[in-house]
Amino acid sequence: MNVLVTDRLPQVQDSDRPLLRTVIVGHVDHGKSTLIGRLLHETGSLPDGKLETLKAVSERRGMPFEWSFLLDALQIERDQGITLDTSQIRFRTAARDIVLIDAPGHTEFLRNMITGAAQADAALLLVDAAEGVREQTRRHAYLLHLLGIHQVAVVINKMDRVDFDEHRFHEIEAEIVGHLSSLGLTATAIIPISARQGDGVARRTPAIEWHTGPTVLEVLDRFSPAKPLGALPLRIPVQAVYKFDDRRIIAGRIETGQIEIGDEVMILPRGTTARVQSIEAWPVPDESRVPRVAAAGQSVGLTLDRQVFIDRGDVISPTAAPTKAVSRLRARVFWLHDVALTEGSMVNVRIGMSECRGTVALIDNAVDPGRLAASGEKLIAQNNVGELDIALSQLLAADIYAVNPRTGRLVLDVAGRIAGGGLILSVDGGPAARSHGAGRSPTAAAPADAASNERKRSLEAIAKRLSAALADPPPAERLRRFSREVGGRIVFTTSFGLEDQVILHLLSEAAVDVDVVTLDTGRLFPETYHLWAKTERRYGRRINAVYPQHDKLEAYVAQHGINGFYDSREARAACCHVRKVEPLNRALAGAAGWIVGLRADQSSHRQSVNLVTPDERNLLKLSPLFDWTRDAVAAFATAERVPINPLHAQGFVSIGCAPCTRAIAPGEPERAGRWWWEQDEKKECGLHARRPQPPATSSRSDAAA
Ligand code: SF4
Repeated sequence: MNVLVTDRLPQVQDSDRPLLRTVIVGHVDHGKSTLIGRLLHETGSLPDGKLETLKAVSERRGMPFEWSFLLDALQIERDQGITLDTSQIRFRTAARDIVLIDAPGHTEFLRNMITGAAQADAALLLVDAAEGVREQTRRHAYLLHLLGIHQVAVVINKMDRVDFDEHRFHEIEAEIVGHLSSLGLTATAIIPISARQGDGVARRTPAIEWHTGPTVLEVLDRFSPAKPLGALPLRIPVQAVYKFDDRRIIAGRIETGQIEIGDEVMILPRGTTARVQSIEAWPVPDESRVPRVAAAGQSVGLTLDRQVFIDRGDVISPTAAPTKAVSRLRARVFWLHDVALTEGSMVNVRIGMSECRGTVALIDNAVDPGRLAASGEKLIAQNNVGELDIALSQLLAADIYAVNPRTGRLVLDVAGRIAGGGLILSVDGGPAARSHGAGRSPTAAAPADAASNERKRSLEAIAKRLSAALADPPPAERLRRFSREVGGRIVFTTSFGLEDQVILHLLSEAAVDVDVVTLDTGRLFPETYHLWAKTERRYGRRINAVYPQHDKLEAYVAQHGINGFYDSREARAACCHVRKVEPLNRALAGAAGWIVGLRADQSSHRQSVNLVTPDERNLLKLSPLFDWTRDAVAAFATAERVPINPLHAQGFVSIGCAPCTRAIAPGEPERAGRWWWEQDEKKECGLHARRPQPPATSSRSDAAA
């Protein structure tokens, strides 16, 4: 027996014979089962004696034999209760292996195809010669369009019911060709058949002698199977980078293509290039057996000929055919989440090993798979399909699905839960894409700028909406709703000041799940470290530190000295950049939301603080206490026994690095505690002095005065 009915498609072809995955669609009564039964028979794929047995059974029961009985019989034999909705039938033609996918259940079929659980290279669309093109035929054609299946053969079945009338055939041909072309599809062939009698399936019989095109079996042999993964350009999503002795080994699985020692590769989205120095193997083989080549499907460890920055999520590809560095993309997505996806929503976008935040800038062509008709709405409801433009918070490496099905797919998640999956239809490049390969055109800056402006506008609109919605609720409710609405990773940064402690208390009381981090500059007060430990104990949670990068700190100290920040504003800005700005950017990378302890009355500058504001890092910043006074915060802390920094009792209002923070004198404004001695300049630290300032002439002793 060489027929295989399986509920799971092989994703990778496992022999030298090409594998063609063909979906068969059409109106439920237009003869799919009959055609499948006939194909199994014509290709000798039935178990020995099966056909004869069924014919004998039919005769005994006084029923005419039907080819569709074959499928029913095979189905029963499987004895597993799996319905035909997911069945996939494998048989062989002379030239190739065929997997025929029967797809009566649109929703499940669309979900599997769009999310990558299954794939089809071609389609047979069945039409009944007597009934002609029906509404369901049109919808199934639309389904093929949605799935991007461009190899479509229309099979006009039951020609025996219209006496093999050529005129009727051409009537239906004209109608279906018109409909397909309105969807951007061109039929590979239009085939008149009688599946029941066998005309046109494997042979051109006298009844259809006027037909000059292929039979069904011939068209199955003419469709192009998907390219073998090894024949596509190299793509290795980096899983990890390990340090071994003095080597850095880049680990990843070769999704497509192959790689050889000496190949020049490009690392996207960074756009840097290097050559492959070695392909590592364990245990270390003798010299003659060291691998020189590796191909799709293998997991490899590589070293490069020079030190380039490379990290998990980057994609290694050939310099001649690089993947794209993408700042915005269009995708067709199957949405699984029970909350509909709307324009302005923020989602986490995962492509291969990389991920970042994305803002849904536009929704188009939302479709209910049950009806296979456009809903016309600017949202994608649960179990529906739609196209969306997503503006990414950072560059990711990706391909268009039609170019590379392995790196042209994405997964969307909301709050860590998978919410949808889809095919990447088009991409807009970022800086790396513009300076390398296909994106080299000088005019390519325009889409990226436009995307960035649109992203900004979109964030501003969301911030405005959230500010209005959260204006009335108390801070705990603001935190709860912010985390719900923003849906993705949210970071609360604390420096263990009064406001920060109150916010942490509220977050804990309201059980809002956020990442709590602090920037450990290495210059904090001993009291702060003590409070840090006490706060962790009180709320039973880790407060993670983000530390400066060691090499950057060394370089700073080498240039400015260990206490260089005392000497000049320039040194102070540089110090803050290394100890605060860069770590903060790292802490917020990929986050959707940021919670901070700002209050509008802290300074005249902060009077412009709003409840929710868009941040330049493409995230939304919530200041839940923005409309509270310092006294109100202190009263709350006392009432709720929130642990607070003992430095407050000594006149320190703001808590930061020990050398750059002081107690304020009576009458001084609150923020004076973070100013240095040049109060007229009010340059408190590099977080707020983004450009290095000219050197100051004042000294630490001035401050004491
Ligand atoms: Fe350096 Fe002072 Fe900035 Fe802290 S506040 S990072 S010690 S300049």
